[in-house]
Formats: sequence, C-alpha cells, structure tokens
Amino acid sequence: MENQVKAIRIEKNGGPEVLKLVTLQVPPPEKGEVTIRQKAIGLNYIDIYFRTGLYSHPLPHGLGFEASGVVEAVGQDVRHLKVGDRVAYGQSPIGAYAEARNVPADRVVKIPKGVAFDEAAAIMLKGLTVQYLFRQTYRLQGGETILFHAAAGGVGLIACQWAKALGVKLIGTASTPEKAALAKQHGAWEVIDYSREDVVERVKELTNGKKVPVVYDGVGKDTWLTSLDCLEPRGLMVSFGNASGSVEGVNLGVLASKGSLFVTRPTLGTHVATLEKMQSAADELFSLVGKKKIKVAIGQRFPLEAAGDAQEALAARKTTGATVFTLD
Ligand code: NDP
Repeated sequence: MENQVKAIRIEKNGGPEVLKLVTLQVPPPEKGEVTIRQKAIGLNYIDIYFRTGLYSHPLPHGLGFEASGVVEAVGQDVRHLKVGDRVAYGQSPIGAYAEARNVPADRVVKIPKGVAFDEAAAIMLKGLTVQYLFRQTYRLQGGETILFHAAAGGVGLIACQWAKALGVKLIGTASTPEKAALAKQHGAWEVIDYSREDVVERVKELTNGKKVPVVYDGVGKDTWLTSLDCLEPRGLMVSFGNASGSVEGVNLGVLASKGSLFVTRPTLGTHVATLEKMQSAADELFSLVGKKKIKVAIGQRFPLEAAGDAQEALAARKTTGATVFTLD
C-alpha cells in the first residue's frame, strides 16, 4: 500500500537552509514497530545540534525526536499498542519531522485522556528530561533552593512548575524582563535577568550567602564558570545542554578549587532506556499534568514546512516555552 508523506530531511550539515521538505515512502511497520500518523511534533534544541553537526549522524537523515499522533499500523510482537491509540514519544530514533513514520513501539506511550496532541508533543522530551533531572540525577525532596538556567525555555517552564509542585525554590535565569516574568508566572521563586544582574551575586543574596546544592545548566559554555560559582561546597553541577556551545577543555582542578564539587553530563536516553523506565517517568509527568500542577506552555506553533524558521527563532532566543509543528 502506498503511504507517501511529507518530511524534513537534511543532506548536509549547516544553517536552517539545509532543511528540505521531501516526500518519503513509509513502509509497513517491521517487527516491534508501529506506524504513527502524526498530529504534532516538538521542536527541541537538540534538533539544532544535529542540523549543525555538533552532534553527528550519518547523512542524509531526518530530524526530531518528539511527536504525538495516532497508531495507524502495528508490527509483530507489539503488545501494549493497537491501531487507533493516541500516542506520543520523546526519545525515538532521529526523524520525527514527518507526517507519518515508523517508530519502535518500546519508545511509544499512550496519551491520557484530557491531554491534547499538541500538548503531548510539547512535553514528552522536555518533561521526561525534567523528570530525570529533578527525580533521578539529583532527587529533589522539597525545601531546597536550586538554580535553573534558561527558565523561560521549553524545558525551563516545565522545570519552574515541577519545582513549585515539589516545594522547591527555583531560582531561574533569563535574558529579558519579559522572559523573567513568564518564568515567575510558571512558578519560579525568583528569576535573575542576567542581562542586567550578576548571577553569582544574586544567588548569594537570595540564599543568604549559602548558595545552592545543585545547578541545572542547559546553556553550556557561557555559563559553566558562573554555575560552578553558584554551588555550595560539594554541590552538584548538572550540565545537560549546549545552547551557547559545548563546555570544553575543563581542568578538573577547578572542581577542587571551588569546593569539592561534583559534575554530571546526563542524557535523557540513559534514563528512559526501557519501556518500563519511560512509562514510569511518563506516568509521573502526566499525573502532574492531570492535576494541573504542570500546564503545557506552547509559546509558538509553526507548520512543518517552516521548520527552518522555527529553529532559527529557537537559536536566536526568540522563543518561550515549547515550540510545536502542527499537522492536519
Ligand atoms: P530552550 O527553549 O530552553 O532554548 C534555549 C534557551 O537557552 C534560550 O531561549 C535562551 O534563553 C538560552 N540561551 C542562553 N544562551 C544562549 C545562546 N548563546 N544561544 C541560544 N540560547 C541561549 O531550549 P530547550 O528547552 O529545547 O532545551 C534547553 C536545553 O536543554 C538545551 O541546551 C538542550 O540541548 C538541553 N536538553 C538536554 C537534554 C538532555 O537530556 N541532556 C534533554 C532536553 C534538552 P534566555 O534568552 O533566557 O537566555
């Protein structure tokens, strides 16, 4: 049966202009796969790293890891999904920017009633990331004060709300007063506008000189040293992204001189490596969404053919919250 779909592919690494809208044939699902007719696709910063070549994958290839839709066909040995199920994923093989595609079923979970397709596509990758950052990498119990960079971003606005739900005081950073206000509306305890204020000094003031036990840093290169300076002795630096470029050339001695610090560089993949682990993290995320502790903040919507414009806006810090591509 013919199943031709529109999808975004790249043949070389580069700027947004390398994204091309092409027509692809979706074959029947193989053993262990499902075909998903997609309804919405999530944009993530990692998509830019794969486009530019910061993260490499054999070319040509598609882009994207996060989407939602309806199961259209089921391969052999798939037990937890059937045709017609409303589903989402946030950690698939690369290639989510497509109208339909085959995905390994163990990467796919059902969307609970009451969660719309665009909401699911906006929170699967980003929300599962906050789940592991807050509940696994450093298990927040409530009562802590933490620092979280890019608090008005896609991952950031989920983090603000999740922290509040846990009784954690999240100090965010943002580049403009508008972004700072948005992060506060989403539950951040305080937000430092780093274009006007010194982050380390403000963190010291806000914590009565104590500083914080954990910093979550998805900005990378530009904030590395600032983040270390915001940590209390034996604190944990969670460096989970490179929006400003990768952290390179680190002398481990810096961890000693700044107070016996710990550093980790985690990825979502490690934390949702099996269906059981992903389902359990997704259950926790969807439960907070169901209780309205996390409201899905979609700041921008683009058609799939404007994927390049969407990536440009994300890289230029012009977006807030999540960005989704919506499909008919
Ligand atoms: P965001 O929506 O947070 O966008 C990135 C934000 O980073 C910008 O809006 C901007 O906020 C801030 N920023 C600071 N410096 C720069 C710069 N030089 N260029 C661009 N942006 C900058 O993106 P996502 O929510 O998609 O992802 C956030 C981070 O989390 C990314 O680094 C991403 O790779 C990482 N990530 C890591 C995962 C993992 O498992 N390791 C999983 C998911 C995401 P402002 O204007 O306020 O400074």
